[in-house]
Amino acid sequence: MKLPAFEYASPATLAEAVSLLASHEGDAKAIAGGQSLMPMMAFRVAQPSLLVDLRKIPGLNQIKISKDGVSLGALVRWRDIEDDARLQQAHPLLAAAIEHVAHYQVRNRGTVGGSVAHADPAAEMPGIAMACDAEIMVTGKSGTRSIKAADFFVAALTTALEPDEIITEVRLPAWPQGRRWGFQEFARRRGDFAMSGIALFYDLDASGKATNAHVGAIGVGDRPLRLGAVEAVLNGRVIDEATIEKASQAASAAVDPPDDIHASAAYRRALTGTLVERALRSASA
Ligand SMILES: Cc1cc2nc3c(=O)[nH]c(=O)nc-3n(C[C@H](O)[C@H](O)[C@H](O)COP(=O)(O)OP(=O)(O)OC[C@H]3O[C@@H](n4cnc5c(N)ncnc54)[C@H](O)[C@@H]3O)c2cc1C
Repeated sequence: MKLPAFEYASPATLAEAVSLLASHEGDAKAIAGGQSLMPMMAFRVAQPSLLVDLRKIPGLNQIKISKDGVSLGALVRWRDIEDDARLQQAHPLLAAAIEHVAHYQVRNRGTVGGSVAHADPAAEMPGIAMACDAEIMVTGKSGTRSIKAADFFVAALTTALEPDEIITEVRLPAWPQGRRWGFQEFARRRGDFAMSGIALFYDLDASGKATNAHVGAIGVGDRPLRLGAVEAVLNGRVIDEATIEKASQAASAAVDPPDDIHASAAYRRALTGTLVERALRSASA
């Protein structure tokens, strides 16, 4: 289908971009790589009168690694994450998850900010943001604010962003050495959206028991989820076969996934348990 008519602006500064979005009272949209917005416009799911292209705004395409963690600029593409060898050490869970995003062409254009703003419940980056307690930095006409991932994702394709706000950065807290982690997802074909996906990590205390367990799930709810019931099973326990079995059962019980053309709810529920099991086996190996 052809796109509906729209105006186009390519501002050189963040302030100009915010002011363009604000001046259209919710009828303008930011565009990054266009990988979700263009199809949505073609299908008339979105019909903005103005597209504000973010690509000329300086500084939004950087990956910064410091003692505080990893900062991903909103215009960082999946390809940039894949190419940055530092991330294998600085955030191996992120690096592993992003390997599963889409196909070659989409990976060259799709961005961190676009994915987080689009808020597809099956997308990997929102899942990592939830699992890792990311902070999402946004700038709008009222200034800059930081939104915790848990408050950011409201429902499918719905976030806490105001219409004039632009995501500038996603901050992931520092990743300590020795942390155990696992990422597992299942899709019909590699690069498709996940029917279910699990991103988890935990640290080990002096007695070898898990602490600080974080378990995130994608593709099984109306937003990326944290599975608190599974975290409760893991914390304070040695990750042995008995704990893995309990955690897997807790994961299946914790989710209430949708039925759709790709898979039934029952299949997704069972799959989620299996993926927790696989992720824990790889984390504890
Ligand atoms: C065939 C195909 C397969 C895909 N498979 C996967 C997959 O397996 N996993 C996955 O996670 N994703 C997948 N995607 C999505 C892809 O990874 C893109 O990252 C995602 O579509 C966002 O695209 P984009 O960055 O180009 O944002 P755009 O399409 O430009 O924008 C998307 C939305 O975000 C808003 N937006 C963009 N940037 C900002 C910003 N900085 N601040 C505020 N709002 C902003 C836009 O207004 C729009 O509403 C797939 C896409 C395609 C086309």
